[in-house]
Amino acid sequence: MSRDPRYDALFEPMQIGPVTAKNRFYQVPHCTGMGYTRPRALAAMREVKAEGGWGVVCTEYNSIHPSSDDTPHLSASLWDDSDIRAHALMTEKVHEHGALAGAELWYGGARTSNLLTREVAMDVASLPNGAGHPFQTRAMDKTDIRNLRRWHRKAALRARDAGFDIVYVYATHTYLLSNFLDPRINTRSDEYGGSLENRVRLVRELIEETKDAVGDRCAVAVRFAADERIGEDGIPIEGERREMFSLLAELPDLWDINIADYSVEMGVSRFTPDTALEPYMSFIKSMTTKPVVTVGRFTSPDTMAGQLTRGVTDFIGAARPSIADPFLPKKIEEGRLEAIRECIGCNICYSGDSLGVSIRCTQNPTMGEEWRKDWHPERIAEKGSDASVLVVGSGPAGLEAAHSLGKRGYKVMLAEAGSEIGGRVTRESALPGLSEYARVRDYRAQQLLDLPNVEVFRESRLGVQDVMDVGADHVAIATGAHWRKERFDGQTYVSVAAPGTSPNILTADDIMDGAQLSGPVLVYDEDGYYLGGVIAEKLRADGAEVTICTPADVVSPWAANTTERWRVRSHLMALGVGIEVSHALIRFDGTEAVLTCQYTGAEKTLPVAAVVMVTQRAPNDALYYELLETVDGDAAKLPFTLARIGDCEAPAIVAAAVYAGHRYARNLDAPQDVDMPLKHDRVDVGATPEGRHLAGGQGAASREYLETLQLYYEEEIEGEAYFAAIAERLEVPEHRDKMRLMADVETYAAAAVHPLLLKHGLVPRDAEGLHRTGRAQAESASGDWDSLIAEMRESFPAFMDDFARLEAMAPAEDLPALKVLTAHETAAIDFLEREAAGDPQSAAPMQRYLETGSP
Ligand code: ADP
Ligand code: SF4
Repeated sequence: MSRDPRYDALFEPMQIGPVTAKNRFYQVPHCTGMGYTRPRALAAMREVKAEGGWGVVCTEYNSIHPSSDDTPHLSASLWDDSDIRAHALMTEKVHEHGALAGAELWYGGARTSNLLTREVAMDVASLPNGAGHPFQTRAMDKTDIRNLRRWHRKAALRARDAGFDIVYVYATHTYLLSNFLDPRINTRSDEYGGSLENRVRLVRELIEETKDAVGDRCAVAVRFAADERIGEDGIPIEGERREMFSLLAELPDLWDINIADYSVEMGVSRFTPDTALEPYMSFIKSMTTKPVVTVGRFTSPDTMAGQLTRGVTDFIGAARPSIADPFLPKKIEEGRLEAIRECIGCNICYSGDSLGVSIRCTQNPTMGEEWRKDWHPERIAEKGSDASVLVVGSGPAGLEAAHSLGKRGYKVMLAEAGSEIGGRVTRESALPGLSEYARVRDYRAQQLLDLPNVEVFRESRLGVQDVMDVGADHVAIATGAHWRKERFDGQTYVSVAAPGTSPNILTADDIMDGAQLSGPVLVYDEDGYYLGGVIAEKLRADGAEVTICTPADVVSPWAANTTERWRVRSHLMALGVGIEVSHALIRFDGTEAVLTCQYTGAEKTLPVAAVVMVTQRAPNDALYYELLETVDGDAAKLPFTLARIGDCEAPAIVAAAVYAGHRYARNLDAPQDVDMPLKHDRVDVGATPEGRHLAGGQGAASREYLETLQLYYEEEIEGEAYFAAIAERLEVPEHRDKMRLMADVETYAAAAVHPLLLKHGLVPRDAEGLHRTGRAQAESASGDWDSLIAEMRESFPAFMDDFARLEAMAPAEDLPALKVLTAHETAAIDFLEREAAGDPQSAAPMQRYLETGSP
C-alpha cells in the first residue's frame, strides 16, 4: 500500500536554518529516565524513532552545568567532552536513518536543588525550590549571568561536536529562562529585570550567542510558552506573551511552542483531549516567518494534516505518540493506518522520569528495552518451532501475548470467558474519562485480523480439563485479578465489616459490573492510583453522595508520577466529592464507617450506606494452581509448558500486563537467562583508568599508562596555548611565526593521540581550563628570543625519555599514534638546534612534521 495523497503535506521537507528536515514529523524533546546514566539504551531508543520515520529526533533536557542537576530525575548532560561521545552514539544512529538530531540545552534554576552535585542552584532571584526541597536559589549576580552564558555556549559547541543539527534555547516550563521572562518572578532592578525589553535580554543573548557559536552548522530552536497561565474558564491568558514573542520572533531558526501549564500541555487523556494546544497557537504563525512546531498528542493523520493545511503549525510535534508508536510516520507513509499503535494518554511514560527509572509505555512494551533486551517495536523473531500455544484470558497480558506470538508465526488459541475481549481495559474504558484505554485492546484486536494463525474463542471459560483437552504445547494463564473486599492492615488482609453485621461492602469490580448505589457512599482507596478517583466520579455522576477516603496524605498519591494527582483532586472537589485523607477505614456496620487517623489513632465516624473498596487485588490464579495440582506441583510432568502472566501472576498497572504478555511471546522457545535477564547499562570500571587493571586479559592497558597518556595529551593542549601566547608577545614577525608553528605542532600531536583517549574512555580536563594554564605558564617564560631558545634546548631532550617510557608501557596497537606524539618532540628539538646554529631553514623539521607526522 502507499500513502494517501491527503497526507502528502506531512512528508514535505522543510528547511530549519542551515539544515533541512526530510518531513514534518518532529519528535520534540522528551524525558526518558535514562539521561546521562544510560547512554546506550538512550541511543538505541532514539534510533528506533529515526528508523520509524521521524524527521527530527530530539534528546531530553540536557543540563549545561552541574549547578543544574535534577536528580533523582535523570536529565542528559553536556558538562564535558565525555558527554560528546555519549550523545554522538545517538546522533550517529539518528543520522543513519536520514533524520535530524536535536539537543535541548537546559538550565533548571529554582526547579533544581542539585541534590547530586551539591552546587548552589541559581535563579533570577532568591526563590524557594520548585520541587518542594528545603533549598533556595542564589539570586544571580552579573558574574553568574556571564558564567551561565559561557556554559550555554560551551554546551552548544559540545552539542555541535556531538553531531546535533538543532540546538535549543529552553525558555519555558518554569525553568530559569522562563523565570527571567516572568514579570512576577523577575524582580531584578538591573538591565535583566523590569521592562519587557530587559527581561527578554538573557534569552535574546543566549539565542544570539548560540547562533554565533554553532549557527553555521546547526539550527537554533527556542522552546517558548505561548501563554502565561490558564484562566478559570479554561481560556488562555496571554498577558504580554505576544509582545514578548514579537521581540524575538525572527531571531531563532525554529519555534517550539508549548504552554505554561504542564498538566494541560501533556495532560492525561482523562482530563485533556488531543490538539489541546491549538487555541494557544493563534498568534504564533502570523508573527514569525520561522518554522513552528507544537504538540497535541496527535495520533490521527487527518488531524495532523489539518494542522499543517490550516496553518496552525509547520511540524507535527510529538513525544507520546512517538513513544507509543515509533513507526507512526512510516505507517502513514505506507498507508498502514490501521497498524498505528495509538497513545492512550495515560502518562506512564512520564512516570519513568518521575521515579528515576527508564521510560516505559502502556501501549508499546518495547519502549526502553531496545538496547538492554534487543526488542524492536516492529520486528520480532520468527517462531522457534511448530508448537501451538493456548493463552487463557484476553486482558492486556493475554491479548499482547497472543498478538506477538501470532506475529512470530505460532498457532495460537486465545480463550476468553467473557463475550468481549480486553479484560480490564474493556471494563475500565467504560468509566468516566478512560475511554482511550480501549485503544490497548483495539490495536491488538485489529492486528489479530491479519493473523489467521491466531484463533479467538469468546465465552470460553476454561477449566483444568478444557485446558488438557486443547492439547497445546504451551499454556499461558492470563486470567487477571479481582479487587478484594478487604484491606491490607500492614501485615495481612482484613475485613472491615463490623463483627456480627453484613454491611453493603462492594469493590471496584462490582461498580464496573453495574452495581447502582444511591445513598451516601464511601470509596475507600488504598490503591493510590487513578481507579479510586474514577470510581468516585462514576458514583457521583450516577447521583450518589460520595466521599473518598485514603490512608495517604493526598488523594491518588501515585498519580503524581503521571502528572495528574493535582487534577484528580481538584476535579473531585469540583464534582462535590468529599475528601478524607490520612485516615484508614477500619470498620463498617452498614450505617457508619469508622475512620482512624494515621497519626494519632483517633477515630471518627462517617454516616454511609455503602462502602466501595479500591484497595488491593487478588490474582485469579486458581486455574494455574489446579493445573499444577494434577501433577503434584511438578510443572515438568505436565504435557505442556505452563506459565502465568500479567495480573494473574502479580497484579500491577496495565503497562506491566502488556509487558508481561510481550515478554512471554518473545521468550517462547528462546528462554531468557533467569540469572541475568537483561543487559546492564552502567560504567564498567574495567574500561576506566581506575579499574582498567581489574579488567584482566591480554592487551589490557595499565593504569599508569592510561594516566600518563591522558597527562601528556593534556600537556599538548596546554602547550598549544603556551606557544600561542608567547608568539603574541614577540615583536619580530619571523620569531612569532616560529612560535605559532610550535603551537601547531602541539595541536597536531594532541590530535594524533586523541583517538587513544576515546578508545580507553579517558576524559581529559576541559580544554578551556588547560588553555588557561598554558597561557599562565607563558607569562613566566623568557621574553628574549635567544634566552627562550636556550631554555627550551635545555629542557626538551628530557621529554624524549618520557615519551619512550610511555611507548614502553603501551599496548602494541597504540604504538603508531604514540610514535607521532614522540615525533613532535624530535621535530621541535631539531628546530631548536638549527635555530641556535643560525640555520635560515630552522623551521623545516616542524613544517615536515605538520605535513607527514614524522620529524
Ligand atoms: P491482565 O491485566 O493480566 O491482562 P485482565 O484482568 O485484564 O488481566 O484480564 C483477564 C481476562 O481473563 C478477563 O477478560 C477474564 O474474563 C479472562 N478469564 C479469567 N478466567 C478465565 C478462564 N478460566 N478462562 C478464560 N478466560 C478467563
Ligand atoms: Fe501514551 Fe501512555 Fe504510552 Fe505514554 S505510556 S506514550 S501516555 S500510551
